[in-house]
Amino acid sequence: MFRKLGDWFRTFMYGRYGTDRLNLLLLCGGLLFSLLSTFVRTLDFLVFFSYALLFWAIYRMLSRNIAARQREAAAYNRFKKFFTDRQNRYYGCPSCGQTVRVPRKKGRISIKCPRCGQRFEKKT
Ligand SMILES: [Zn+2]
Repeated sequence: MFRKLGDWFRTFMYGRYGTDRLNLLLLCGGLLFSLLSTFVRTLDFLVFFSYALLFWAIYRMLSRNIAARQREAAAYNRFKKFFTDRQNRYYGCPSCGQTVRVPRKKGRISIKCPRCGQRFEKKT
């Protein structure tokens, strides 16, 4: 019986995106907010927020649009790196918007955008 259920689940999930780090974060966030809303009565609105996160996670898990989900995961990784990278700083090019990574603590430096060649000065 369990074997049959497992087979069914495998067939059901075939071609779907499944889960990733971003989904784990969404699920944990959703659970945390729903716990918080049960303990702190004044924060009732958190229930809706937690359901939104949980449904978003489930939607991503069952999605068949794998390319779009991978783009989201890549965006999440860039976002995370922006806050966790202590060796480098990230600047947006003023003319084309390309994100440029430069080493920290080098004083005032001139940065050349690798995409459009525009030069701009920043303190790192
Ligand atoms: Zn540029």
